[in-house]
Amino acid sequence: MVNVGILGATGMVGQRFIELLADHPKFEITALTASARSAGKRYEDAATWYLDSSIPESVKDITVVDTDPKETKDVDIVFSALPADTAAIVEPKFAKSCVVASNASAMRMEPDVPLVIPEVNPEHLDLAEIQQKNRGWDGFIVTNPNCSTIALTLTLKPLYDQYNIKRVYVSTMQAVSGAGYNGVPSMAIVDNLVPFIGGEEEKMESETLHLLGEFDGESVVPAPFGLSASCHRVAVVDGHTEAVFIEMEDDLEIEDVKNQMGNFKGLPQKLDLHSAPKNPVVIREEENRPQPRMDRNTDNGMAVTVGRLRKDAAFDNSLRYVLVGHNTIRGAAGASILNAELISEIM
Ligand code: NAP
Repeated sequence: MVNVGILGATGMVGQRFIELLADHPKFEITALTASARSAGKRYEDAATWYLDSSIPESVKDITVVDTDPKETKDVDIVFSALPADTAAIVEPKFAKSCVVASNASAMRMEPDVPLVIPEVNPEHLDLAEIQQKNRGWDGFIVTNPNCSTIALTLTLKPLYDQYNIKRVYVSTMQAVSGAGYNGVPSMAIVDNLVPFIGGEEEKMESETLHLLGEFDGESVVPAPFGLSASCHRVAVVDGHTEAVFIEMEDDLEIEDVKNQMGNFKGLPQKLDLHSAPKNPVVIREEENRPQPRMDRNTDNGMAVTVGRLRKDAAFDNSLRYVLVGHNTIRGAAGASILNAELISEIM
């Protein structure tokens, strides 16, 4: 077993880490950290548990410690669910001695930090060696993208491999859990929609092109198409929905698009990694799917569901579809765990 710690273990994403790692065949939780507000308490007393499942027995009595590498000795991997500003300060300290698999945005676009979706760009992990040389660390930081970006990019990858994409427009309808427990006040979201999520559109636009970009042995050259995002918060607890519009350079066949997406498999499927979904993209034919409540948990929340896949009658060579992805599983904790499973297998 590999000893792992969770940084920010009491939060929304931290709890998902605990749920997903409690019975993991390879990783054993040996350290839980949070802020000074929680340090020193038993996990059960420190965390307000939000998930449908119960707190796993194996973590209830673990004492939460400060988020400091001196407090979490003997861990090989730490999963970070920290706010970005804290992550920027503490993740580099942990990376001196162990692998940091991070959800936070702080280090994602650093040129020597791999930003990875295992099915999309596992070759970007080679940046880890450059990072270690540049920074003199024994460990390294690997990041996963923002929750909306992961779902979108998993559906774009099979299309990008087959077609010349000219432009992508995406409009998101994002769940409140994406902002953390204290993120969106109920008075702002009940009976309402908030048409702005700070920094989200910029993250989707830059991270997607970076993920689909080419690693030339030294750095990543972003994919060359245009991407425009509009992000909105809706009164859904879990599961981000996105309406996607794609313009290709050439003509496309809708059946071919369905085959490309539905049969898409990546390295995690080939290696049969524990958290890998059988199919990263699942196609639904019903005209009223996907819906967050019905489709967010597809394949344990690790698959993205696509529906309403159709040619765009208004423009040539164009396609539209709707997708749903679980933001705290495939879009956060599950994504980091899959990165760590891949690293344990191939590095
Ligand atoms: P959250 O619910 O607010 O949880 C934040 C966690 O960080 C808590 O455990 C908190 O501990 C801890 N923390 C806060 N300030 C700290 C400090 N100064 N020092 C040490 N620990 C501190 O946030 P979240 O939604 O889980 O998000 C965590 C990270 O994942 C963020 O960077 C977010 O952008 C990213 N992310 C979230 C999602 C999502 O869908 N929610 C998706 C992708 C990425 P206390 O309980 O002690 O305050």
